[in-house]
Amino acid sequence: MNRILIVEDEERIATFVQKGLNSKGFVTKVVGDGQSAYHEASSRLHDLLILDIGLPDMDGLTVLHRLREERVSIPVIILSARSSVSDKVAGLVGGADDYLPKPFAFEELLARVRLRLRGHVLEDQSGLKAGGLILDLRTRRALVDGVAKDLSAREFALAETLCRHRDQVLSREQLLSQVWGFDFDPGSNVVDVYIRYLRKKLGAERIETVRGMGYRMRTD
Ligand code: CA
Repeated sequence: MNRILIVEDEERIATFVQKGLNSKGFVTKVVGDGQSAYHEASSRLHDLLILDIGLPDMDGLTVLHRLREERVSIPVIILSARSSVSDKVAGLVGGADDYLPKPFAFEELLARVRLRLRGHVLEDQSGLKAGGLILDLRTRRALVDGVAKDLSAREFALAETLCRHRDQVLSREQLLSQVWGFDFDPGSNVVDVYIRYLRKKLGAERIETVRGMGYRMRTD
């Protein structure tokens, strides 16, 4: 069962989203301000976060920034009436997985929720899988076609992030914010350096470079 945290201060929209998701079998919780959103999401009791940007206290992007700084890797879909390109970029750079401008159709939200949760469904006790790669989250070890590979903590975190979003393109900025938590400036080439390390250990073909966009963990 997937648990979804809905952060929305407009009661009408919160109810619309909650009722819709409940009718599809999701367990939901609604909070209406940034502080509660931050506390709930950092409890790690939820599998996905639907986050409004305009909130009465701390705005959604600040909540997201704080969560990523704390290494909370929950998938995040941003909902916002501000549909300008710059907001979209700010949301994605801030570590969001997706962005849905208001107003939106429930079916569209549902499709995105299912897409973002897919990675979590594939996660079982033995770890995260992508093709012949298994990441054991308890021992923090990688298995490549059954052969154990030693990864440093940072390499493992990068592999884990790519694996959780397998088949999706992640930009350097997204990887920086999720794995390094803004410790580095956006111009840093640390992501490319670590991708090189990972390719050496896990196999070069496993991580694809998507020109001008970022990197993708392949599953085929
Ligand atoms: Ca709002």
